[in-house]
Formats: sequence, C-alpha cells, structure tokens
Amino acid sequence: MDVVIGLEVHVQLNRLKTKLFCSCPLDYHGREPNTHVCPVCLGLPGAMPVINREAVRSAIKVALALNAEINPVMRFDRKNYFYPDLPKGFQISQYDMPLAWGGYVTIETESGEKRVTLKRIHMEEDPGKLSYKGSITTAKYSLIDYNRSGAPLLEIVTEPVLRSPKEARTFLNTLRIILEYLDVFDGDLEGAMRVDANISIAGGGRVEIKNISSFKGVERALAYEITRQKNLMRRGRKIERETRHFDEANSITVSLRSKEEEQDYRYFPEPDLVPIYTSEFVDDVKDALPEMPWEKRERLIKQYSLSLEKAKILVLDPKMADYFERVAKEIDPRVAASWIVDVLRGELNYRDMSFSEGERRLNSDELVELLTYFLKGRITEKGVVEVIRTKLDHGGSVEEIIQSKGLFSIPQDEIDRLCREAIEKNPKAVEDYRAGKKQAANFLVGYVMKMTEGRADPGETARKIREILEEIS
Ligand code: ZN
Ligand code: MN
Repeated sequence: MDVVIGLEVHVQLNRLKTKLFCSCPLDYHGREPNTHVCPVCLGLPGAMPVINREAVRSAIKVALALNAEINPVMRFDRKNYFYPDLPKGFQISQYDMPLAWGGYVTIETESGEKRVTLKRIHMEEDPGKLSYKGSITTAKYSLIDYNRSGAPLLEIVTEPVLRSPKEARTFLNTLRIILEYLDVFDGDLEGAMRVDANISIAGGGRVEIKNISSFKGVERALAYEITRQKNLMRRGRKIERETRHFDEANSITVSLRSKEEEQDYRYFPEPDLVPIYTSEFVDDVKDALPEMPWEKRERLIKQYSLSLEKAKILVLDPKMADYFERVAKEIDPRVAASWIVDVLRGELNYRDMSFSEGERRLNSDELVELLTYFLKGRITEKGVVEVIRTKLDHGGSVEEIIQSKGLFSIPQDEIDRLCREAIEKNPKAVEDYRAGKKQAANFLVGYVMKMTEGRADPGETARKIREILEEIS
C-alpha cells in the first residue's frame, strides 16, 4: 500500500544566547519554571517585540545549507489560536512571506541516495511548555512553564515525499547532523527538535500526529499509524482527516481533534515588526558557512586516504571528526580511524554515551598516548580495549590503568629468559618432551604464563620454548 509521509520539523535555534523577540536568556533548561520571562515573552498587553539579529543570521545559515531559496523580503505574521501555551492569543510566525522556499536534504536509504525536497522554512516563536501529571488525556490539570515561550524556532516543512517510517527517521538524523555542523543547534537538549508528522495511506485522509519529541518516537508513531489505518481500511472504514497525539509511554496515537483548517488561524501581518530585507545578511552568512558533512567526508578521504565507509561514519558527528583529525596528526590516520570508528564508537554506543561525553572521559591526547604504546608493541590490542573501557567507566590516567592492570607486555628478552628458566627448573618435562610427548611443552609454557601473571603471549611463548628445546638437544 502507498504510504505518503510529510514532516513539519520544529528546530530550536538553541545555541543562541537570547530569545527571538526579547533579551531573556535561552539557557532555561533545568531552571525553575517561569524564571526566564519578561513582558514580551509572556505576551503582556503593550509589550513590543524586537527581532533578534543573530536569530535571523542563524536562520539564513540553515536555509543556505539546506539549498533553499531565501526570500528577499520576509515578514512576520500573527497565527491566532487560543491556548494557554501562548497567553497573548497568537503566535508570531511567518505565513506568505517566510524565510525561504524549497530546498532539499540528501539522505541515504537502502536503495541509494534520495533527495528529500522541502516546501518551506519559516521562523516563529516557541510557545510555553505545558506539563501534565500523568498523561495529556487523563490529567486533571495542566501546569505551564513560560521559560520556553519566545525561544527562536525554525519550522522546516518537507514535501510529502517520505515513503516509510524509517526514511522519516533517517531524514531527521541527517537534518540534525547538518544543524549541528552549522553550530546553531544542540540536539541533546530537551525539546530541541519536535516533529509533526502527516501521513496518508492509499489515498485516505491525511492524519497529523502532533509534537513527537524523539526520532525513535517519530518512527514508532508512524509505524503505529500505518497499522491502525490499514486495519480500519480492511474493515471498510474511511480514514478521516484528523489530528492525533502520540502517547510516547504506550507507543500509540490517540485522537485529539478534527484537523483545523488554515483559515481558522486568521493569519495577518504582525504590525509590531518591520519586514526584513534578507540580502544584507546573505553574503555575510555565506562567507561564514562552515565545511558541511558531505564536504568534510570528501576531504577526509583525500587527505588521510580513508575508506568511504570510515569517512562516512566519522562525519556523522563533527566532534568525532575533529577528534579524529587531532589523533591523526600524531599517529597513522588509518590506524586512528579504525580505533575511533570500530572500537571507541562501539563502546560509546554500548553505553548509550554521546561522543562529547566520551571525549570528556578519553580525550584525543590520551588516545594518542594509548595508541602509541600499542604501535610500539608495549600493549596488546586487547589491552587497548581494556584501557578504553576503564577510562569510559571509571576514569584515571592511561599510564596508571596500564600499570595497575598489568597491561604492559613483557619485553622479549625477559620472555626469553623466563623460557630458559622454565626449561632449567623442569628437567622432567624436558625429558618427556624429548621422549616424544610434545604436549609436555605446555607445562613449560604454563610456567612462563604463571611467572608473567598471564601477560606473555601463549602462542609466542610456546614457539620460543620449542625453539630453545630444539636448539639445546
Ligand atoms: Zn522575554
Ligand atoms: Mn509551527
């Protein structure tokens, strides 16, 4: 059956210092409710909004990176609706003269690259945050925190071109990476990206699922909707156009209301803000655009002779790519890449740890120190993994961990000496060996392993012991 999905993604420009139309600080996460507010973001009568210049710059940066066509003049409008998350009774948003039209994001799907086209990108203010004791459908009352009210948002609207829940998730992941590269967005902060997903199946009514706050949630909500709608259709029911809410805890969607029509919002130009001529920003912002993930990927392949696979993974997080480049200054880049991509990243994923958290626990200098020991043969591959795990879980210095866990390998002349000692002290085993009991050599290996507390390489030791035995016979 034909599945058609379009997304409306609300992205908080949360790396900015202040809100969109007032100077209240944006660092409200984890703060007491209703402490980061002023008459403007509380929507008190007579309060006047003033546009945050940096927010406009950030928005233009995003529009450029998403290949969108920036409107020469953009304007703000009032989107009227009555709900306590915006006490003034409207949201300052953009309607017919938004920041930008069109644009696209290239994603990787199982069947190759796909261009997800965008309809529009506009700027708007974030509403306050409502909380419910229990769930939205059963709570007796709502609590409201206006700290978030007035935070700068971008609404990025895709064309209905996504064909599966998985594609939707891939799109969001890719978008997140682009926004992080632009340094306008921190995806780890709560509420940084919220998604409304529209889905219709086999030409049925379009169902909108509101305010999903995680990528996994988007995938789950869409998968649930596909099953729900298919079941209804099988029973001959018509899919009505409606708005639903995703119940994250139970992974189901529930009906909220029949969908409001655009005219219900009575859009009209915001009289308290002047139109913005974007051209004065664009050139300036263009010059300041950072290297984008697809550009970085190509450069890493060229500059460090990395495989496409390794480079692809490294650029998933600009922090990981930077980390790699610091390590690659000191040691063989291909060795560095495989330890970072295959081992470090695996250990981080296993712990559900972000790369920046991992970096705090094992910085690039420490990885260089550790890999230098490895490349000099002072520590085994297994030893390196053990140090990485210990650093991530308990901290400590690389040197200390290697010492305390006895991970330094024994120098070869010390192994040789111990092999000879094993032979001298165990004439019976030597005799058995000479009599044809080749497994007697294992006893001698055991001796060396015991003396080195298991740090000798058993295969190498066995080879050495046989060599000496042959030599002296
Ligand atoms: Zn304010
Ligand atoms: Mn919106």
